[in-house]
Amino acid sequence: MCRIEDHFPYPTMRRGQAEFINAVLRSLKGGINVIEAPSGLGKTSGVLSAISCLSELEGAKFIYAVRTHSQVSRVMEECLKFPKVKMIALRGKGGLCINWKVRRIKNNFLMNMKCEELRKLGSCPYYPPKIREARRCHDPILLKGNYCPYYSSLGIINGYDAVVLCYPYLFEEELYSVLRGFNPDYLIIDEAHNLRRFWFSRIVATLELEKLERVLSSLCERWSDLMRSLQRSRMQSLEIPRNYLIYLLRECLSSSPKSFEHFSKWILSEVEGSKRIILEPPNLILLKEVDGSLEESLKRFKSVLLISGTWSEEVARGEVLEELNYERISLDRWGEVASFIVRDFTTRFEERSRLEFYRVASTLAELSEAVVGNMGIFTSSYEVLQGVLDAGFENMVEKPLFIERKDMDSHELSKMISEFKSMSSIGAILLGVQGGRSSEGEDFPGLQMTASIVLGLQLSKPNTLGRVQEILWRKYTRLEDPTLINACRSAIQAAARPVRAQDDIGFIAFVDRRFSYCLGMMPPWMRRGIKYVRLEDLVPSAQEFFNRRSPMKRVDVAEDMPSSSES
Ligand code: SF4
Repeated sequence: MCRIEDHFPYPTMRRGQAEFINAVLRSLKGGINVIEAPSGLGKTSGVLSAISCLSELEGAKFIYAVRTHSQVSRVMEECLKFPKVKMIALRGKGGLCINWKVRRIKNNFLMNMKCEELRKLGSCPYYPPKIREARRCHDPILLKGNYCPYYSSLGIINGYDAVVLCYPYLFEEELYSVLRGFNPDYLIIDEAHNLRRFWFSRIVATLELEKLERVLSSLCERWSDLMRSLQRSRMQSLEIPRNYLIYLLRECLSSSPKSFEHFSKWILSEVEGSKRIILEPPNLILLKEVDGSLEESLKRFKSVLLISGTWSEEVARGEVLEELNYERISLDRWGEVASFIVRDFTTRFEERSRLEFYRVASTLAELSEAVVGNMGIFTSSYEVLQGVLDAGFENMVEKPLFIERKDMDSHELSKMISEFKSMSSIGAILLGVQGGRSSEGEDFPGLQMTASIVLGLQLSKPNTLGRVQEILWRKYTRLEDPTLINACRSAIQAAARPVRAQDDIGFIAFVDRRFSYCLGMMPPWMRRGIKYVRLEDLVPSAQEFFNRRSPMKRVDVAEDMPSSSES
């Protein structure tokens, strides 16, 4: 039997944390299990306590899957506090390759091919790697030296009790095969409400037409003809017979220079691996056939634990079509929160206008002056974000403004987010998109974000891609209104950014009257006392909220507490 006090390294537990750890231990007795628990409760340290105990007690092996690479880093940092845990981070070549000729290639497929070619020729100076000393908490991204960190870490995985990795490793057989020999007993997945959506990304892939065109138009006239016909026909989308596209690509690429060899292999393998292909600017949509189901991937483990901060029982059972054990760690009070739904505004496409964008932009600018600490604005799409900017938002605000761009790479984005966080003492504004990387998986404790404004409900567009996604949700899940559920989930995730611990404060505004449909999915602490207001009422409400509280004091209190995980 596990004695958690022998494994938990902090002097005290957070509210609800003991309950959470017990639920984790109960869930690792078999089957597929879901635990819903609020963020900031100390879930990472709770999971590591259970790993520490069960690996010591029964020699159990774990896979701990998280959504992003920065979450992998956070788990590895937390590992250092648990003296009995032996854990390794499994990362891809994209983050680990130290050969600049390969590292600069952004596409994973092309990068792998180049790496393989260099290894075969014996031309990568960092390969074969020496098996280096294995650290207890081994994160290859921190290794310095002249040996390939990717291949050197693969050689030592089997000696660890737990592997922390990102979702793709779970479903891609080729990636999962690097774990051959590790033989995990348990799978723990964090932020598991993303799982089904992630699994669908294996069925529907989109390639940016603009990038393809840049290469293909220079190679052959036929591709340009195809694009021109689409434009002339004024059709929104066009299904292209797969065999015709393969024929066309082969012809275009047959006379391409040697430097296009890897690109040719990549694009042909993408198209050949697809069942149907649809041209819908700005994307080429590829529909693929997948072997097996999400549930089959989960059933290869003795026990699976799916953890989430926002996954109601009804929705979880609708998304995972297997018998589930569901537990909820419910805290009625979580942080000091005031929540609002704006009843006289919407970003509904038919009701958008320059005047309405001006109205919302000027209100949010005024609101930013009332906020103490940083404020996040999360729009339903990049179009809505642009609408706010076109209304002159940049010139209306006094505080530093950070804008998430669609084409930002993860390095650029994390640099921008750290800069935004560092400005919490003067107060800054982050303008991002719901479901984007800044609105999920990124924590903003204390003054790093005290107000979250969720602007517009993210219902999918009535285009082919939106319809395909709707069909997939209906085919593979039992959800009654998947589009609305997904939109509400992204909004709630974004709204919860400021409240990551029991002492955080959060002014939360859902700016779209349609958010009343999402009430049932909101956690109790967010839903409790929620008020319906006019857009213009937000400013006096924020003034009243921040005047009544002193976030500075709360941060001091939080800093006096024993540190625990940020999850
Ligand atoms: S062997 Fe390692 S360092 Fe060399 S190209 Fe491949 S991933 Fe990069």
